[in-house]
Amino acid sequence: MTQTLNPPVGRGASSGNLTPEQVNRYKRHLILPEVGPEGQKKLLAAKVLCIGAGGLGCPISLYLAAAGVGTIGLADVDVVSPSNLQRQILFGTNDVGEDKVKAAARRLKDLNPDLKLIEHKTIVNSSNVMDLIKDYDVIIDGTDNFPTRYCVNDACVLQGKPNVYGSIFRFEGMVTVFAPHMKNPDTGERGPCYRCMYPEPPDPGSVPSCAEGGVLGVICGTVGSLQANETVKLILGLGRPAIGRLLTYSSLDIEFRTFKVRRDPNCPVCGDHPTIKEPIDYEQFCGVPILDPKSLEETKQEASRAKAGNGQAAGAAPAANLDAKGLPPGYAFKPDWEVTPRDVKGMLDRGDKFYFIDCRLPNEYQITNIPGAELIPLQQIAQHREKLEQHKDEKIVVHCKSGGRSLQFTQALRQAGFKDVKSMAGGISLWNKDINPGGPQY
Ligand SMILES: [Zn+2]
Repeated sequence: MTQTLNPPVGRGASSGNLTPEQVNRYKRHLILPEVGPEGQKKLLAAKVLCIGAGGLGCPISLYLAAAGVGTIGLADVDVVSPSNLQRQILFGTNDVGEDKVKAAARRLKDLNPDLKLIEHKTIVNSSNVMDLIKDYDVIIDGTDNFPTRYCVNDACVLQGKPNVYGSIFRFEGMVTVFAPHMKNPDTGERGPCYRCMYPEPPDPGSVPSCAEGGVLGVICGTVGSLQANETVKLILGLGRPAIGRLLTYSSLDIEFRTFKVRRDPNCPVCGDHPTIKEPIDYEQFCGVPILDPKSLEETKQEASRAKAGNGQAAGAAPAANLDAKGLPPGYAFKPDWEVTPRDVKGMLDRGDKFYFIDCRLPNEYQITNIPGAELIPLQQIAQHREKLEQHKDEKIVVHCKSGGRSLQFTQALRQAGFKDVKSMAGGISLWNKDINPGGPQY
């Protein structure tokens, strides 16, 4: 049997024998000498907290429940929306609109009646994380935002809990185990934490989320299964846990690579002289909110459209919550730089002469577009310089999905000497709420 430097995490095997039903259910485990009835009883006694019931949390909790992990806590504040179903395999069409933790509990308890599933319908933050994780043996990070990752990391370091980390983006993923209180099985050194790897959060807006950049749904299964596997290894004390090793997966190349990651003795939370001794304000530290208000609103609208029984919702979209200009309440409109979709609609209806540019990518254009707008992706602005120059003295309006890239495009043209360029506030997302209600949102 493979030996490990670290003892099993958790509370050991419960006394008493497996019931005949359990022997039958778990017999593929029981015949593995490395697991056996003792190992199965360790799994049944273990308490695991999965933070996030999204793309990663779904396969993680399904495999752990099936494996007989006795107590699983699931923390997520969201409801199921139709666009979750491309990858969040715990849920079905009938669950749309329901709390994820509730729908998950139903599915997981059906999968394994031995399971005690604890629903935490909550946003994990500095005020509740210490309390939330304290009764669990292993914490699994299946979240998709930086404030929560730092928050979960710090709490795990402070309480000496292993943090089984996974992340996904587009066609790639990564997995590791952060556990500075445990040993790297290869070197015997203490393992690193998330802050050792990423001392500083990225600049707000510099790293697109999966909602912005997309993700191949299948990746979630690969990465989530690896996280579930590391969790089971930790509970059983089996093999070499990924402490001090980062595994990356590229699905397009079907290639796994591992990198050594070392603990930073100067790390503010797991270093030799830590300065962080309790959770901090992670939204402030990262400069972004835990929950993106825009995506919350989208989820709500998606779910209510689906409930109305009309996935496309042409004409059935709920009235958008917009101000007198047709902008979302609180929108910081910059009149020198922006026009509203209503302004643009007026210009089109009057037949005003202006050059209308859609600066998104071709795949986005194919999802939905505004007739009359010419596709010039922001990334290809240099290649289109000549064509753009022909419109240098005209009025120009640029739009994108939600107004960020089109502002960049506008800035670039103004820097190149274009005089009359503006960005359409809110992009085609707002256009499809206000001007073309029911038009696709993506
Ligand atoms: Zn650290």
